[in-house]
Amino acid sequence: MFDSLSDRLSGILDGLTGRGALSDQDVQAALREVRRALIEADVALPVVRSFTESVREKAVGVSTLKAIKPGQQVVKIVHDELVEMLGSDAEPIDLNAAAPVVIMMVGLQGSGKTTTTGKIGLRLQKRQNQKVLMASLDTRRPAAQEQLRQIGEQVDVATLPIIAGQTPVEISARAVQAARLGGYDVVILDTAGRTSIDAELMAEAADIKRAANPHEILLVADSLTGQDAVTLAENFDEAVGVTGIVLTRMDGDGRGGAALSMRSVTGKPVKLIGTGEKMDALEDFHPSRIADRILGMGDIVSLVERAAEQIDAEKAAAMARKMASGKFDMNDLADQLRQMQKMGGLGGIMGMMPGMGKMKDQMAAAGLDDKLFGRQIAIIQSMTKKERENPALLKHSRKKRIAAGSGTDAAQINKLLKMHKQMADMMKAMGGKKGGGKMRQMMG
Ligand code: GDP
Repeated sequence: MFDSLSDRLSGILDGLTGRGALSDQDVQAALREVRRALIEADVALPVVRSFTESVREKAVGVSTLKAIKPGQQVVKIVHDELVEMLGSDAEPIDLNAAAPVVIMMVGLQGSGKTTTTGKIGLRLQKRQNQKVLMASLDTRRPAAQEQLRQIGEQVDVATLPIIAGQTPVEISARAVQAARLGGYDVVILDTAGRTSIDAELMAEAADIKRAANPHEILLVADSLTGQDAVTLAENFDEAVGVTGIVLTRMDGDGRGGAALSMRSVTGKPVKLIGTGEKMDALEDFHPSRIADRILGMGDIVSLVERAAEQIDAEKAAAMARKMASGKFDMNDLADQLRQMQKMGGLGGIMGMMPGMGKMKDQMAAAGLDDKLFGRQIAIIQSMTKKERENPALLKHSRKKRIAAGSGTDAAQINKLLKMHKQMADMMKAMGGKKGGGKMRQMMG
């Protein structure tokens, strides 16, 4: 998987990591090679363009972190952009619906649809403890229904008994009904494929969708067809709507163009990849693991991550020293807000606290959305240096100027000032003489 792309990219990046200094020209030259490697890997051009643009923006003039070479930082930037391009988070099959959950498989003939149906059935039943029923709706190819029956027997997953003469829509209705009566959790419908997209195929898929009301519509596409797989996904999505992609034959795909472009071009997640003919050769599509695999530089990536944490820790220690001194001005508050923004904003912080996720909607209604910190930082940035150091200066006319500068209003500014005052008072109490220098004692 990704072998040839991986060789190319690691070769290019290896050339950067060893060096002590890195000029903008070095970065540009390396990026030109990365660009060429991606194009050779058959990645869609617009995706290549936005990828290299993002990396360039972040990598040129990259700040020198202590203990980290600039080239290592560039590797980390390339890695993170790859993850982003691949879709950031893994998206497993969604079974969050009333049973029986219907999964509809669509795709061209020969893409591996029937094999993948069996693989998914096996995985859901064995790993996720779901009771699965599979049904072939391919009435055109006489052997198709029998093929699925045999696969079912092989993996020990139930298949719908074959009744000759039924239409695909009739079979789908019978499958859902049988699943309901039989207490199945999941029904997988393997629809007919054609050698190419035609109106009839799409109309049939739309009819089945209407009849069976699938929760997931998974397009099975052959990764070896590269950009054709991406175009296919766009066409299917337009005609019937697709909730996810399964890319087959990744085991033979050294280039990876389909896998790399799919998400960016179609907006649909690659949920699973087929990695062989055996029934257990099916893997989750984990963007970060895939990026690791492609770059083969996991150790550098984690090294840079650790260094970045270290820097945050140093900043936090500096902040603590400052707090211990009892001084806390608007610049300090802005630093704090930036730290919180880095943690994913209010939503991110709340998401880390168990049970808090549900409160998000209420908070949004109260104006406490993810952009809150951004607005507060904008307010502070609209202050003059003097005002930041001494917020007591902020009277009506100054607030008006700041509101205009930051696109906020007096009420939001007052709220921020109140928050700052509370924090500053707390610092004073903890750090100042009156508080017995508690913070100072704590900090040694
Ligand atoms: P369908 O016409 O789309 O239902 O395709 P099939 O499921 O019959 O698969 C066609 C061929 O592709 C079979 O020989 C499968 O074993 C093979 N196949 C399916 N998925 C993969 C995969 O991920 N890797 C490899 N190497 N072969 C696969």
